[in-house]
Amino acid sequence: MYPFQKLIIITAPSGAGKTSIVKKLMDTDLPLGFSVSACTRKQRAGEENGKDYYFISTEDFLHKIANHEFAEFEEVYAGSYYGTLKSEIERIWKEDKAVLFDIDVQGALRIKNNFGEKALTIFIKPPSFDILVERLTQRNTESEESLKKRIDKASLELTFENKFDVVIENIVLEDAFMEAKNIINKFLF
Ligand code: 5GP
Repeated sequence: MYPFQKLIIITAPSGAGKTSIVKKLMDTDLPLGFSVSACTRKQRAGEENGKDYYFISTEDFLHKIANHEFAEFEEVYAGSYYGTLKSEIERIWKEDKAVLFDIDVQGALRIKNNFGEKALTIFIKPPSFDILVERLTQRNTESEESLKKRIDKASLELTFENKFDVVIENIVLEDAFMEAKNIINKFLF
């Protein structure tokens, strides 16, 4: 048995600020290990293979699906697969840490469904849809088509709020982060 055999899933529509919160949580002294997902999208400038994602080919991804290597996976955007490897969860538990996820809404629900009470799902909500669109646009990492896909998906995902254990509104990043930190602390100890 591992002392922190738990899973904490931070989820949100793209642009709500979940990745910033996850990064800040990883800088605390909480016993958390970040679940590095496998994905088939192109690596962005500044991203590191094996740290942000395992960037793999679609062929390799499909092979891993066939081998049942994923705890969950999703074609998050048409042609772009993302998934959590079972080996990643085991790796982190073996380090005596709880697993911290930054995944989309569907993936979060699937992990919760598989792991029940061991899993805590936290939904990060943007202050408004307009602000979310503004954040996504300003990020400037996407083509116009990809940006539109992200906005459409985010608009649907905002309606999923009531399916999660906890909802945190991200108005001021530091406040949202502190709220998440306190909730996780209570869940772990
Ligand atoms: P991005 O391309 O911006 O890094 O991520 C796109 C979306 O995919 C984000 O909402 C991100 O949280 C989600 N995502 C990342 N890894 C996984 C995963 O392993 N499974 C699922 N279901 N979604 C993921």
